[in-house]
Amino acid sequence: MKIFCIGRNYSDHAKEMNSPVPERPMVFMKPPTALLINDSPLYYPAFTKNLHYEIEVVLRICKNGRHVDKKFVSNYYEELGLGIDFTARDLQAACKEKGHPWEIAKGFDGSACVSKFIPRDKYDASKLSFSLSKNGEIVQTGNTKDLIFDYDTLIIYISKFFRLQIGDLIYTGTPAGVGPVEIGDVLVGHIEGEKILECEIK
Ligand code: MG
Repeated sequence: MKIFCIGRNYSDHAKEMNSPVPERPMVFMKPPTALLINDSPLYYPAFTKNLHYEIEVVLRICKNGRHVDKKFVSNYYEELGLGIDFTARDLQAACKEKGHPWEIAKGFDGSACVSKFIPRDKYDASKLSFSLSKNGEIVQTGNTKDLIFDYDTLIIYISKFFRLQIGDLIYTGTPAGVGPVEIGDVLVGHIEGEKILECEIK
């Protein structure tokens, strides 16, 4: 399985990172070893001093395919959930400065926290409100109506370059409010008020 992530897909987050809004989806990947499932804790990695959370809606691909056509794109995902795109912000800044790839800052073990999945139609997927709280206080809120590139556009775009396979995940981007975590912090994610994700930093 593959883990696709989209950078800067909410304009308020692009702004807080002092980054321009992209003209096309900005795609990067994490390896399967990055997955953190079943509310497992994340052990604070030794190589960073500035580990950040980024809460994101995650799509699970349910059909194999490439060059997906607009007519059929909605058949490619039936479930969604929440994920945290953990980022070593200090390493990422150093990579960006040198124009280097940023896998070490984004794809390390445990960097792709993911919740259980819920049916796409449980709530209105096109205007899904979601949030992340840290130690009981809300630190990020978002709504998928504010996505720059919507789910269909992302799937069509990604499938031009990569064959989609059942089980692939797409992290659709984070809204504003990203920030650091410390050992002992507990992160909780909600979709429409329903708690579906928890991750403790150890
Ligand atoms: Mg992200």
